[in-house]
Amino acid sequence: MGESSVIVYVPPVLFGLVAATFLVLWRQKIVTNWQWGAGFGQTALGFSLSTFPIEPTFDAFASGMIFISAAYCYSSAVFEHFEARSFDRERRWFVGLYTLVLIYCVFILDSLRYQLFLTDMAFSCLIGLALAMAIPKVQRGVDRILLASISLVVFDTVARALYFFFFYGDASDDFGDFVDSAYNLAVHVTTITICMTFPFSALVASGVSAMERHKQAAERDPLTGLLNRRGFEAAVTGSGRPGMAGGAMLVCDIDHFKTINDTLGHAAGDAVIAAVGDLLRQVTESDAVIARFGGEEFVVFLQGRSAQRALTTAERIRRTLSEKDWQHFGLARPVTVSIGLDRVTPGESDPYAAIARADRALYAAKAAGRNRIFQATTDGPVQADTVCA
Ligand code: GH3
Ligand code: MG
Ligand code: MG
Repeated sequence: MGESSVIVYVPPVLFGLVAATFLVLWRQKIVTNWQWGAGFGQTALGFSLSTFPIEPTFDAFASGMIFISAAYCYSSAVFEHFEARSFDRERRWFVGLYTLVLIYCVFILDSLRYQLFLTDMAFSCLIGLALAMAIPKVQRGVDRILLASISLVVFDTVARALYFFFFYGDASDDFGDFVDSAYNLAVHVTTITICMTFPFSALVASGVSAMERHKQAAERDPLTGLLNRRGFEAAVTGSGRPGMAGGAMLVCDIDHFKTINDTLGHAAGDAVIAAVGDLLRQVTESDAVIARFGGEEFVVFLQGRSAQRALTTAERIRRTLSEKDWQHFGLARPVTVSIGLDRVTPGESDPYAAIARADRALYAAKAAGRNRIFQATTDGPVQADTVCA
């Protein structure tokens, strides 16, 4: 095996280690970890084949199948990671067609040159498709690095395939000489370089995306998709400034919600809570911070809004809910909310103090008959909506 004897072991070992890492991480039940792990594992196997004394024709066929299967797994991982359309059926047909042409090149044409060209181009097509679908979806820096390293893989594979096919000459058709060839050595050198970028950028991108998913799960309410208490606190206090921005705090509570649960059941109650959450998102400003604080109580922070503008938003919430048709939820009467509101002065440090003030106004709204808005004032809560105006 000459001077290439040591270098041929490097790609299988590096890819094997990354594959093992992904397969261990697969315990988190994140499907991309399995797809990356399978892809890198097969790449390790494909490169290790040339280190075994096996029959060259079998080596050519087996390594072709292993590399195309690895490309299939990589492309699946990229589609999944970027939540892009995955062309599953088309990719399976493509691999089937590739297999037939590979059989023809290896067993009938008996040409290593054609087999390598075919495998490299098919590999690049599968990964290139994933790359093209992922580029419009890229947002994070780590994902940009991942796509750049995948582009490097595609560029390297296509450049090598073209060079070997057009310039390397007919001598390249001898399977037996291939393992010791300059081409095989070049493959290993470029692969080691890519080893340092592609698998490790996939590992980092997967890790960052898992961390973001965990953070999202910890800060979101699963029923409505709104922030929970922890997420709300982080959103209103956590942008590096001392205390909160000025604005207005709204606390909204569904009226007589218990009777919805009691008459239609808990599942119908859940559907109403989710619908109220959706509606809050629709009728508030895009920069409103909205959270579900347990049960059927929602908190909305309207950053930078005067009490008057916040009142307009609160009134829109109250009116839209009470005018919505709730019949397909099985409800004979509309769902209404009572809302308490107070101003937040810039620099206030405790969001819960502002919520408590708005909460007192909310209780006054409940006591006054529900489906209304009360605003906290220095003289105590006063009704502020157009119901009584
Ligand atoms: P009020 O007009 O005074 O607010 O009366 P209410 O019936 O809405 O208020 P109360 O706080 O007495 O009832 C809230 C109910 O919400 C009690 C609880 O069983 C129910 N609840 C709390 N969390 C959930 C949930 O996640 N899903 C459903 N379906 N019900 C919930
Ligand atoms: Mg209630
Ligand atoms: Mg309540």
